[in-house]
Amino acid sequence: MEENKLGIYCHIPFCIKKCLYCDFNSQVCMDQKQIDAYFAALKEEISLVAQKDQIVDSLYIGGGTPSSVEGEKIADLIKALRQAFLFDSDCEITIEVNPGTVTEEKLVSYKKAGINRVSVGLQAWQDQLLQSLGRIHDQSQFVQTMTYLKKTGFENISVDLMYGLPGQTLLMVEESLRQVLSFEPTHFSCYSLILEADTPMTQKVEKGELICPDEDDERDMHWLVDELLEKNGYHHYEISSYAKVGFESRHNLKYWELKDTLALGAGAHSFYKGQRFANLSDRELYVEHLKKGQLPRTELHELSQEEWMAEWLFLGLRKLDGVSRQEFIDRFADDYMLIYKEEIEKLISQKLLIKEGDYLKLTKKGQDFANQVFMAFI
Ligand code: SF4
Repeated sequence: MEENKLGIYCHIPFCIKKCLYCDFNSQVCMDQKQIDAYFAALKEEISLVAQKDQIVDSLYIGGGTPSSVEGEKIADLIKALRQAFLFDSDCEITIEVNPGTVTEEKLVSYKKAGINRVSVGLQAWQDQLLQSLGRIHDQSQFVQTMTYLKKTGFENISVDLMYGLPGQTLLMVEESLRQVLSFEPTHFSCYSLILEADTPMTQKVEKGELICPDEDDERDMHWLVDELLEKNGYHHYEISSYAKVGFESRHNLKYWELKDTLALGAGAHSFYKGQRFANLSDRELYVEHLKKGQLPRTELHELSQEEWMAEWLFLGLRKLDGVSRQEFIDRFADDYMLIYKEEIEKLISQKLLIKEGDYLKLTKKGQDFANQVFMAFI
């Protein structure tokens, strides 16, 4: 039964260098004592939330740059999780890695620890774009990472790419895709650059030192990604995600389907048993709380039925298959076609949503104006 399943996210907030566009909860830290203290805190958090009522069928180790720490630290973390929770024998276990931090030795220890999916943060193929993003790696280090991954026997590999970057052209997006396709990953995550407030990249764009492609060019890039990946056998299953059949990310689907996900680590956000809560994002405070045996939680919010229904709809609409009316009725004993009649009819008349059998889904135009669609349900 699906209610018996649980996804776990573990946040590793360390990075070698801060990328210029990044506003994630991550910090540059090379101090082994601080890294050890953080992992000790994570293990304490695991022992405080341990339960064996649900079966863990996805574990996602994200960051930050999880591959910036020793492989043994990650293996040790997974061991602690396996002791505290019941793991499905078929559990999807993903780690995010950055080229430039991956060694064969680390990959061997990931494999031994049971990691079976690796998400590689490339972002772009061209070294000049990587440099302007402030990434620590170049193209050759990505090639080396992919070679190590194949050599150590990883078969489920996802690659992250970005478009809408300053100085990026349509041809560059095409080159990035073609080069990565030659390594035959099972999954792609393709994101449009978001200029977050107060990042060095946003400041450079505001000062006119960097120029982003305009909205039309950015959309052309999106549709080029879509066309090339579909042509190469990748199924567009979520706004930013493409996969070979059977390689859709089980963990990420949990977020879009409002399934239980327990998130551990500084600043990590959970959706668990109808509640949303977050951990303190300050790493030192997070560690301090756990040293005293206290859960470092903040922002606890119990979803009302209305909020749950709205979230189920707008998160579910991120999936290209859309949302099932019958599933909504079974889950909430209510009908979204009645509750959101006005909003849905308007979005259908604007050709942003379409009804197909039991499903309501985004049209191609709806993908271009996805935020407008989602906002209609908030
Ligand atoms: S590697 Fe990822 S988390 Fe770290 S600074 Fe770059 S974008 Fe942010």
